[in-house]
Amino acid sequence: MTDRNAELFERAKALIPGGVNSPVRAFRAVGGTPRFVQRAQGAHFWDANGRRYIDYIGSWGPMILGHGHPAVVEAVHKAALDGFSFGAPTEREVALAEAIVELVPSLEMVRLVSSGTEAGMSAIRLARGATGRKKIVKFEGCYHGHADALLVKAGSGLATFGNPTSAGVPPEVVQHTLVLEYNNLEQLEAAFAEHGADIACLMIEPIAGNMNFVRASVPFMTRCRELCTKHGALLAFDEVMTGFRVALGGAQSVYAKLIPGFEPDMTVMGKVIGGGMPLAAFGGKRAVMEQLAPLGPVYQAGTLSGNPVATACGLATLAEIRKPGFFDALSARTRALVDGLKAEARDAGVAFSGDSEGGMFGFFLMPELPQNYQTVMKTDGARFNALFHGLLDRGVYIAPALYEAGFVSAAHSEQDIADTLSAAREALRQLPR
Ligand SMILES: *Cc1c(COP(=O)(O)O)cnc(C)c1O
Repeated sequence: MTDRNAELFERAKALIPGGVNSPVRAFRAVGGTPRFVQRAQGAHFWDANGRRYIDYIGSWGPMILGHGHPAVVEAVHKAALDGFSFGAPTEREVALAEAIVELVPSLEMVRLVSSGTEAGMSAIRLARGATGRKKIVKFEGCYHGHADALLVKAGSGLATFGNPTSAGVPPEVVQHTLVLEYNNLEQLEAAFAEHGADIACLMIEPIAGNMNFVRASVPFMTRCRELCTKHGALLAFDEVMTGFRVALGGAQSVYAKLIPGFEPDMTVMGKVIGGGMPLAAFGGKRAVMEQLAPLGPVYQAGTLSGNPVATACGLATLAEIRKPGFFDALSARTRALVDGLKAEARDAGVAFSGDSEGGMFGFFLMPELPQNYQTVMKTDGARFNALFHGLLDRGVYIAPALYEAGFVSAAHSEQDIADTLSAAREALRQLPR
């Protein structure tokens, strides 16, 4: 039998660097041939060989309803018939802004853009413009898109400024980015003690999904809020992954339940708000947002921003997830998956930990949940890769890298979870010791 995935990958590699348009798709970490997706429906997709997989990536988060939800398809179809893009305002942009501001109480105004990278980059420019300060704080293992100033890792020593993680980023461009360890209170205190008056914003993934799944501890988050307030820095939540995914109000609504009165100053969103179309947003308090052009001096623009087909897709998606009981059911299904995986691992004698919130989950081949990037990366990569391929061979598609979160959609049935757990049972038993 010819392997159509392999054929397509060869064709792709001839013309597209690495054969992919976003690096993690290339399977470099886990080895093997990427699956070229031919079509998808509900919780499943089919590759170029016609083979079916249970999809735990969901386009890396957006597909919270599963693929091809009828109401969303209809909304997109109708919108497309009325025109793809105008470069002039439309009613759906207003409706989407209204929906976002209603669902996320910390927001007073939003601007729509086309990708999470663009939203994060613009939020930082706005924070700098609004505060008149240069420095930003980020945490190792958090991803905020691939803007130059954010492609940075910690330098040596405590609270030093970072080093670029990509060629093509001059050190000067990251010299104002402070990189700290996630959940490390001491480093946080030291950074604000030394640089507080110069910090424009602290940007954080409140539940980090780009180092698998790591929650900011409540004391840590409390202190982030206090220090930002004390020093006049803006607390910016990157909820591109967690927004409308871990709860209807995002991760900030989860922390607001644990920390009375808690809210961030700015929020960056993407993924679920576009329902699978290129759409993202950033927002915050009116006084900050009004610094944006055309009202204020901070420039930001986009030809396809607030695209009419993308906004139709986002609005239809939000309309479904705000139905009563949606997140209770999604959370229960996700928890059933993670609890089931833990039980299978225990039976197989494999050290394992896992966690979930709403429709987002993570697991680790280690006995305790890690608290920061360094610990996440201590996972035995060879064993993770064996588990990945063990699952893939059995029709279960999880993220092809150990530092990525997983996603359950409303379309994942009890049967899908049961099938996943029986695949995991076999795959876990075959792991190298
Ligand atoms: C995916 C992601 C981004 C980047 O979004 P893109 O749409 O891929 O540019 C930024 N921040 C977080 C937390 C993300 O998960």
